[in-house]
Amino acid sequence: MSRVKITKPVTSKSPLDQPEKYQLKRFGRVGSDDHHIFINKRILIEITEYSKTNLSRELGGVLVGGYFSWNGKPYVTIDAYIAARLGESRSASFKFTHESWHEIGVIKEQKYPDALLVGWHHTHPSFGIFLSGMDMFIHQGFFNLPWQVALVVDPVADKLGFFQWKNGKVVTCGFHMVIPGGAKR
Ligand SMILES: [Zn+2]
Repeated sequence: MSRVKITKPVTSKSPLDQPEKYQLKRFGRVGSDDHHIFINKRILIEITEYSKTNLSRELGGVLVGGYFSWNGKPYVTIDAYIAARLGESRSASFKFTHESWHEIGVIKEQKYPDALLVGWHHTHPSFGIFLSGMDMFIHQGFFNLPWQVALVVDPVADKLGFFQWKNGKVVTCGFHMVIPGGAKR
């Protein structure tokens, strides 16, 4: 699939500044100089439910959304998920295969032609939230733009965590869950 090297965000009002349209729930620490991550609640549920469909092997997929900035602050939105069903799922590793990239590319072009690959997801059944050496290899190889993120889910412990680039390193970070529909007044 084509991987366009987008380096500039599109200017768009952040969900943080639209309380009339979105309710937000923050998880973990979101630093002021982080790329803020906004994930749609429905997609987060879709990912965690898919993660639970195999508790003995790792599953993975890609995060689809957009890269924006508002008032000089960059942020990414995660608006869809494509499972890499043709990836290589082992008990303690997940890899995107050539076939899985093809599958992801076809689905993305059909369903989300204007969106970006903002990151990837994979599971660590019962061994916690971190990026292994192989995970770092994948992140550096395929998700190496400053705004691309990784999501790790442990479906056994029912935990998850995001990672993002910061000063050339990949570090753990917090995120916002976005619930469409503004606060009741
Ligand atoms: Zn891993």
